[in-house]
Amino acid sequence: MRNPQMAPHGDGSGAAEEAAAGGAEKRPVSTIVILIAMQTEALPVVNRFQLVEDQDSLFPKGVPWVRYHGTYKDLNINLIWPGKDPSSGVDSVGTISASLVTYASIQALKPDLIINAGTAGGFKAKGASISDVFLASEVAFHDRRIPIPVFDLYGVGLRPAFSTPNLVKELNLKVGKLSTGDSLDMSQQDEATIFANDATIKDMEGAAIAYVADILKVPAIFVKAVTDIVDGDKPTAEEFLQNLATVTAALDQTVCQVVEFINGKCLSDL
Ligand code: SAH
Repeated sequence: MRNPQMAPHGDGSGAAEEAAAGGAEKRPVSTIVILIAMQTEALPVVNRFQLVEDQDSLFPKGVPWVRYHGTYKDLNINLIWPGKDPSSGVDSVGTISASLVTYASIQALKPDLIINAGTAGGFKAKGASISDVFLASEVAFHDRRIPIPVFDLYGVGLRPAFSTPNLVKELNLKVGKLSTGDSLDMSQQDEATIFANDATIKDMEGAAIAYVADILKVPAIFVKAVTDIVDGDKPTAEEFLQNLATVTAALDQTVCQVVEFINGKCLSDL
């Protein structure tokens, strides 16, 4: 296992246990979970793989979480979207929903690999441009300030993504560090932490998904397409909405290439 923090310990069952024995690394990936926070980002992928929405939900009754599933070549694909927030009606973006659906999806589906795909803000000073698609090398939080020794590190929650050098090479993806927080804008305090995290891209889910994947010992990768330039002159929300449709097409195309690359390969070949 290349990433010790993502190394499986095994819990006596399923993919995690098999991974603990090294088995998951030596057989082709068979079940993947693709986690996507927004419907606009998710639907192109659903359509491309002709995934179908579950009729009987795997999830507790009443939650807004949606699973689309299907097969593509040798892969069982599950796309999970946290759905619309029941009280406000908007996409359930952010770390809380992301953590919950990650937990529930791993419990229900025992995936070999998690792919978190979505949009992100990018820093042009670190080489990001609109429509770039990044694979995150590591993820951390920028809005969990706990200035007490060791708790500070817990707050930052730095974790490596599962390392996929062959995927990066084959798809010629940009690689950068991802910083996660629960706000679309960026306060001065957030900015300082993002800088300390050496992040090239900024989102609202990645590090939360990495946390859950880590404690449940499932490898996770993060595919993020840049909708807005955080250190540019346009207001983030405006730029985000302006670019969302185009960038979503770039994201969909890359997710497709990633799935195609994974098909038939073992984790250790990624
Ligand atoms: N105003 C948008 C809100 C979406 S929130 C709307 O009405 O549709 C932004 C989503 O895109 C989150 O899922 C987040 O992960 C990602 N994102 C894109 N740009 C971001 C940025 N600059 N900062 C944080 N998250 C960003």
